[in-house]
Amino acid sequence: GQDRPLNFLEQIITKDLQEGKHSQIVTRFPPEPNGYLHIGHAKSICLNFGLAERFGGVCNLRFDDTNPAKEDQEYIDSIIEDVKWLGFQWGQESNAEVKFASKYFDQFYEWALHLIHDNKAYVCHLSPDEARQYRGTLKEPGKNSPYRDRSKEENLAEFEKMRAGEYDEGACVLRAKIDMAAPNINLRDPILYRIRKQSHHQTGDQWCIYPTYDFAHGQEDAIEGITHSICTLEFADHRPLYEWFIENLPVPSQPTQYEFARLQLNYTVTSKRKLKQLVDEGHVDGWDDPRMPTISGMRRRGYTPRALRNFCDIIGVTKSDSQVDVGMLEYAVRDDLNDNAPRAMCVLQPLKLVITNFDEAGDGVESSGGEPTLWVTQPGHPNRPELGERKLPFTKEVYIERGDFTEDTSLSRKKFKRLVSGDYVRLRGAHVIKAERVEKDEAGEITEVHCTLVPNTVGANPPEGMKPRGVIHWVSATQHVNCQVRLYDRLFNDDAPDAGEKNFLDFINPDSLTIVDGAKAELSLRDAQLEQSYQFEREGYFTLDRRYSTETLPVFNRAIGLKDTWAN
Ligand code: ATP
Ligand code: MG
Ligand code: MG
Repeated sequence: GQDRPLNFLEQIITKDLQEGKHSQIVTRFPPEPNGYLHIGHAKSICLNFGLAERFGGVCNLRFDDTNPAKEDQEYIDSIIEDVKWLGFQWGQESNAEVKFASKYFDQFYEWALHLIHDNKAYVCHLSPDEARQYRGTLKEPGKNSPYRDRSKEENLAEFEKMRAGEYDEGACVLRAKIDMAAPNINLRDPILYRIRKQSHHQTGDQWCIYPTYDFAHGQEDAIEGITHSICTLEFADHRPLYEWFIENLPVPSQPTQYEFARLQLNYTVTSKRKLKQLVDEGHVDGWDDPRMPTISGMRRRGYTPRALRNFCDIIGVTKSDSQVDVGMLEYAVRDDLNDNAPRAMCVLQPLKLVITNFDEAGDGVESSGGEPTLWVTQPGHPNRPELGERKLPFTKEVYIERGDFTEDTSLSRKKFKRLVSGDYVRLRGAHVIKAERVEKDEAGEITEVHCTLVPNTVGANPPEGMKPRGVIHWVSATQHVNCQVRLYDRLFNDDAPDAGEKNFLDFINPDSLTIVDGAKAELSLRDAQLEQSYQFEREGYFTLDRRYSTETLPVFNRAIGLKDTWAN
């Protein structure tokens, strides 16, 4: 993606570097550890780390852990894992440490005292309801709090009482003294500190007052020497406040905030709160359920870091909100896997073929475990010779997909390019065969199709006039790997499941997971590796599941089908 025009942030950075405003840029990705990262975070990660990479700068990974109520070490661990997996490195190579906002709590506290000393902050005892009334509205200016004009000494004493735990949660807050008539409501004496009598995952019980996002974020940036602090559009209205703190505090550097449009994907929910609800209420099987739009879910499903990074590159960075079609993400995944996934054959719904004249298979037939076997070869990938070759055992009995055979001889060759009674088809990499007759059980279900092979047709055309309907995949009925296959579809069947008043839970797709037992995969998949996707020919892209696979029964997740089934 280096050939496309520069986006607005790249233009700003180019100018800043040219004009010598900065000699090196420093960005940051600042998640709150209150959930797993999702595809929207991937956009922010690719943006912030991508800019640092492109301009020879540095990007910090910083946990914005200022609210202990919903945060957890599990989330910290998963976030670190996800950023690494996407292929990004934070900090300097020589000093690759993760940052925590909570490490700066002493400094924030000092800065709060600084504002009180400058008569720019006060402790306010209005109840939340009263505070709301005093704040005013967009049309109406607010009113000054009756606590606004207390003395510096009183404020210092009250703030010390807050810090010492002498007040209950909600009893009072520390507020900045800015302007209750400001048109921007964020400037109407915003809260700096609130009381939370809760243990913090990093600082334990050291604090019972915690800074707000607004009082923390810009100062975190200043401490770390962030040059370009990039956040999503809803923070544009907070920028004057961000700048007010930077101007009114003795901070060590002068960061600037820029805003970009957050990623909104159709058919998808990307709010940590809602994703957590899906997990907590058991609608999905954990944060890394392969149907989740989380990075860990997409990883488990078989999406690759390259596909996610390409996707972020394709959608680009803009200053106005718009919805992105989830089909674009699926396209990026399919495109990457088509280029890179080794090929394999796997039969999901097996139907047995018996090749009655197997003794005519050719000179190469050898005995493998006592069974006559013809080893045929197929490329690991049609145009990636470095992926080598697969050797496939062709035997008297093979499985094909139940859906690849019909007795209905009226179907045209164009409509049904598979096996039909009395007609020819090629088994991929092996012979052309002809369906001779079927065996059925008492219920009338076909149990076996008896076929004959056409001799000398491996890698060679059949005799003149004999025209196979198509090429189908197969596996040996005796030499294969038994496996389970999990087919996923979109988790929501509505294109905007949480828009407006809608309850996203009402739109969960009941068919988002189909478990297929008794699938038969070619032998090479015995060595299938985690994190490696395979194209199961004619079926889609599949990856070994890290949770449910066992030594004896691999489980494969379908990352994505070969074609977009949602497109009209
Ligand atoms: P959520 O709404 O899912 O809780 P959040 O913004 O509260 O997300 P944070 O942990 O604060 O989550 O996000 C870390 C960074 O990721 C922020 O800089 C935020 O702007 C960015 N981010 C979050 N969601 C998106 C999104 N959908 N598109 C782009 N960036 C996002
Ligand atoms: Mg946030
Ligand atoms: Mg949030």
